[in-house]
Parts: sequence; C-alpha cells; structure tokens
Amino acid sequence: MKYITLLGATGSIGLQTLDVIRQHQDLFTVHALAFGKNIAKAIPLIKEFKPKKIVVQDWETLQRLEMEYATSEILVGNEGMIEVSMDCETDILVNAVLGSVGLDATLRAIEANKTIAIANKETLVTAGHLVMEKARKHQVHLLPIDSEHSAIFQCLQGENNKEINRLILTASGGSFRDKTRAELEYVTLEDALQHPNWSMGAKVTIDSATMMNKGLEVIEAHWLFGVSYQAIDVILHKESIVHSMVEFDDKSIMAQLGTTDMRTPIQYALTYPSRLPLPQTNSLDLIEIGKLHFEEMKFERFPCLKMAYEAGKTGGTMPTVLNAANEAAVSLFLQKKISFLQIEKLVENELTQHYVIDHPELEAIQVIDKETRKRVVSSVK
Ligand code: NDP
Ligand code: MG
Repeated sequence: MKYITLLGATGSIGLQTLDVIRQHQDLFTVHALAFGKNIAKAIPLIKEFKPKKIVVQDWETLQRLEMEYATSEILVGNEGMIEVSMDCETDILVNAVLGSVGLDATLRAIEANKTIAIANKETLVTAGHLVMEKARKHQVHLLPIDSEHSAIFQCLQGENNKEINRLILTASGGSFRDKTRAELEYVTLEDALQHPNWSMGAKVTIDSATMMNKGLEVIEAHWLFGVSYQAIDVILHKESIVHSMVEFDDKSIMAQLGTTDMRTPIQYALTYPSRLPLPQTNSLDLIEIGKLHFEEMKFERFPCLKMAYEAGKTGGTMPTVLNAANEAAVSLFLQKKISFLQIEKLVENELTQHYVIDHPELEAIQVIDKETRKRVVSSVK
C-alpha cells in the first residue's frame, strides 16, 4: 500500500488524481489532502477519503471548515503543505497545486526523499535548477504528470534515454488558435475559457490560449529531461492525440498517443514503472480519427512562447520573472481587470526591466517572485 499526499486536491488534476486512487484502493491510500479555499468541494473528498491530515490555504478557511465539519488534524498555508509533504507517512507526493506556491513543498519533499508526481509546472519554471540539483543529490524520482512530459518520459523508458536528438512538444493551439492577432483585441474571458480539447483549471486554460502554457512546458522539459532549448521544438497539432515525441540520434521518432484524459498520465506517474488498467478511459479510435495534422508554430502569432524560450535561454532569475508576471497577469485577466492581450504586454514589461541574477538561491527567487507580482498588480490600478 502506498500512502499519498495530494496538494491541490480540489483542482482539476487533484480531482482526477482522486479518481485514479478510487479505482485502485488496494494500492493507494490518501494520507493527506491540501487545498486552497474551496470548502464545498473539499468536504465530500474529506468524507470519502478520510485523510489523516488536511491543509487549507489560510486561517479563515480553517475556521470555516471547522464550523462546517469537525475533522482530523488541520494545518494551514505553506508551512502546512511542507509538513505533510515531508511527513514520514507520505510515500508519494502528488503536487497539483497551482503556481509557484508549490515550490517549497517540492524542495522539502525532495530533501525527505519522497517520490514526487509533479503537475505543478510553475515550480520547475521558477526554480528548475534548484529542484533538479536537489533531486539529483537525493536521488529522488520526479515523475511528470503534464501530458507532454509524461509522453516524453514514456518514450524514454528502457535504454532510450541517452541518444536524444530533440524533443518535439505538441500544442493544440488553445481557444484562439484560428483567430488572427487583430481578432484577439476583442476576445472575452468566457471565450478564452473554452479550450477545444482539454478540460482543465482556469489558469492553465488561459495559458493555453496565450501559448504561455507551451512556453512554461518548454522550460519544464528542459529541466526534467536535461535537454538544451535549441533541441526542444514545438509544433501545432490540433487534435491533441500525439501528446509529444522524441527524436533520437538516428532520426527515428517515438511518440505517445492517447485520448485527452489526464487520468492516464496521472496513473502512470502513480504506478510507474507498471501500467495498470484504467477502465474508465476509452481506447483511441484511430479509424474514426482518420487524419492527424501538424503545422509550424509561428512565434509572431504567439509571442508568449517566444518570451518563454528567451527567458529559459537567459536563465538565472529570468524564468522566475516570466512565471510570476504571468501568474499575476492571468489572475488579473480572470478578475476581468485587464484584456487578453494585456497579459503578454505585462509579462513583456517585467522581462525587459529585469536585471538577471545568475544561479539564484531560493531566497532571491522568493523575493523576485513577490516583487514581480506586486509590480504587475500595481501597474494596472
Ligand atoms: P486548478 O485551478 O483546477 O486547481 C488548483 C488547486 O490548487 C486547487 O485545489 C486550489 O484550491 C489549490 N490552490 C490554489 N492556490 C493555492 C494556494 N495558495 N495554497 C494552497 N492551495 C492552492 O488547477 P489545475 O488542476 O488545472 O492545475 C494544477 C497544476 O497542474 C498547475 O500547475 C497546472 O499548470 C498543472 N497542469 C494542469 C493540467 C490540467 O489538465 N488541469 C494539465 C497539466 C498540468 P481551491 O480551489 O480549493 O482554492
Ligand atoms: Mg501540458
């Protein structure tokens, strides 16, 4: 039996992780659940999975939870997430929290030698060098949940992992893939939240529409697989059937295909290296799909992707700024305080103003993350 601690339990990935656990109760037990503020979603999960420990985002949520439901040990905030992630009873940490708030818990879980299934890509973007350095030192497995990275990870099993020529990440194009730049002036929040292929949380859906999501994923791939930015390509693939590919030195390409169901990569991360049945997921009907399309990714159409490549190549604190500015800008867009195209402008402003620190320590990253967010928010007031 493996004991699981899940950060971001009430989110899109969190709920699908619990769905996988529900199907394999002989293998997994939930040890701790952490969420933000959504008590209404959390209570049924607490009743069903009976975690020993619960973490909520703040004291107000703790009081509300205690009023509505007398329950086991409740912890609060970042400290709480760190405590359950390091807990000696945790075997696998599933980090599905949203944003760079997940960084401390990831780092501390690595120090405690936990296996980590990671969906929280912002952690790797904001401080990939620290995470990977620690993971190497403690020989900890970081198992990707993000579908593109799970695809690459699956292609690299066996003896395949040494002769990589390039990684090819596929991108669906997001909600606005068929719109011109001019048409983007007038899009609304409601339009942006309609992803054509995947059902995901709000932030990652907006990131897909700006193509920042693919930019964050390029940086995530760089760190997870140790591949240079020059050897990571992104291509448009509107069907989202090929989840990503690896080209080897002999120019042979391996791809992983599947339906757009995140439970497949989540389960693979939980059961790795085994593959178990996933009865609720359908087989791909290749005959019905008939054709797959691949197109060139145009940087002029998706400047966020270009900014992410450049931030990644510059390194140091540049990706931290990219991520923090983007988190703050997307949050403003979700509150309807800025337009869709202002997201990329706010991120660009921060990147051009930033004076890079090379090889930053955790403290420097935390300060820059906080200051960048503050500046973005105050710039629109
Ligand atoms: P959601 O917005 O659906 O869920 C986010 C979760 O994080 C919720 O449980 C939320 O709690 C919690 N949370 C948010 N802020 C805090 C905080 N400050 N402290 C504690 N908990 C917090 O996001 P997703 O599930 O879509 O995404 C999660 C991560 O997975 C992201 O990094 C995303 O990029 C990545 N990912 C997601 C995919 C998807 O299909 N959704 C695919 C690939 C990667 P509450 O709602 O209770 O406030
Ligand atoms: Mg992805």
